[in-house]
Amino acid sequence: MTLTAGSRSGTRRALVVGGGIAGSAAAWWLHHTGWDVVLVDASSTPHSGGFVLDLSTTAQRILHEMNADDIVERTSFASPATSLRFKGGPRPLQLTFAGGENRLAHRGRLIDELMKHIPQEVDVRLGTRLASLEHRAENVRARFDDDGPGETFDIVVGADGVHSTVRTLVLSPRETSLYRNGLSHLWMTVDRAMPGPDAVVVGRHGAMVFAYPYPDTARTQIVAAVPAIQHVAESRPLVEQVARALRSTGEELGGIADGVLDSDDVLMTRFTQVRTARWSAHRVVLIGDAAHCIDPLSGLGAHGALLGAVTLAQSLQKHGDDTSAAFTAYAAQVRPFVEVSQRATARAVEYVTRPKWRDRWTTVLGGAGELAQTLPHTISTSGRRALTGAAALPGIQRLRP
Ligand SMILES: Cc1cc2nc3c(=O)[nH]c(=O)nc-3n(C[C@H](O)[C@H](O)[C@H](O)COP(=O)(O)OP(=O)(O)OC[C@H]3O[C@@H](n4cnc5c(N)ncnc54)[C@H](O)[C@@H]3O)c2cc1C
Repeated sequence: MTLTAGSRSGTRRALVVGGGIAGSAAAWWLHHTGWDVVLVDASSTPHSGGFVLDLSTTAQRILHEMNADDIVERTSFASPATSLRFKGGPRPLQLTFAGGENRLAHRGRLIDELMKHIPQEVDVRLGTRLASLEHRAENVRARFDDDGPGETFDIVVGADGVHSTVRTLVLSPRETSLYRNGLSHLWMTVDRAMPGPDAVVVGRHGAMVFAYPYPDTARTQIVAAVPAIQHVAESRPLVEQVARALRSTGEELGGIADGVLDSDDVLMTRFTQVRTARWSAHRVVLIGDAAHCIDPLSGLGAHGALLGAVTLAQSLQKHGDDTSAAFTAYAAQVRPFVEVSQRATARAVEYVTRPKWRDRWTTVLGGAGELAQTLPHTISTSGRRALTGAAALPGIQRLRP
């Protein structure tokens, strides 16, 4: 394999904007494939939000390659089995899936530890916000909110999340790249333990409610999709709707429903996917939620962020100075998985939360059409791998220990 770092006059410089999972992983991989890396994050504590987050086996494999097994061990736990409940009454419809090898991580702790895992040679600047980007023939100039003259970089990696400044500056105005469907998420921590070890998903009364047991504590995390957009101050009717959905599956979840009504730890967000035709322009590229937020309910955010970071570093290594070819190759590898996951997530949530059968059939028929579009990918092995979001880890060569 061609070694590309230092292939011109000196080592190439990358700016990574954002210090979440995508940004910290990108900084790690770019450093280890020979880049000089600067990472900026607008926040001085970029890891707030204490919810649990899925770590797929691919995500774990990528973290293993990053020598981060201990981080996975410290910040996550084996995924519980998940029981799906879609019907109440004397004959409830219930399906239970084993947790498999996936793990659930504490989001805040995982990001905190990944930030600390960034090699010390990387120049990490917390509390620094990207303000503008200027494309030039040989590089790109970035300016920050310190009013300084800015700095030049060979590439800029936008890992700055769903409301990405990089995307807005370079690719598309914010609102045109966001897919929204009128659903909101309610996030709650309930000070009661689940009645058993399993996570439960309830689709009832126009709500889709996920209830996860926190390990080693008598608490439960609730995430619910509900068909309304309201400010958290007006969330009481939605909280009651979530409690009703839980209670409707039988007595077993009655205690959790009571806990939902008592909880004062309520956060509201909107169902949001980033759907944009391009992930790069000139020397600027997007990864993670900035490029393709699938929505937290998918459980695929960490997977997509880690997959994007390693695939980008790998493509840059393969294509040398031709950053444009590298960005194209990276997008070709990651996009099929993203598009399938986005459509499946949106359709599933929309189906469950739409009470009228006519609306549900529209959702199903639309989903069938989308499924047909993915068929060309299933013909080749590489296409099938791309659809599942597999990472081609043996294809990357580390230049630094
Ligand atoms: C509360 C919450 C709970 C979640 N729970 C789940 C879950 O259960 N399952 C799941 O799969 N996913 C979940 N997610 C999503 C998941 O965390 C992300 O998909 C994943 O971590 C990838 O994020 P990211 O690194 O691309 O972006 P982010 O984690 O959003 O990081 C972006 C970073 O960029 C910084 N930034 C933004 N603008 C600028 C700027 N102009 N200059 C410099 N820095 C900037 C921000 O401060 C932030 O630190 C959750 C997200 C949130 C917010």
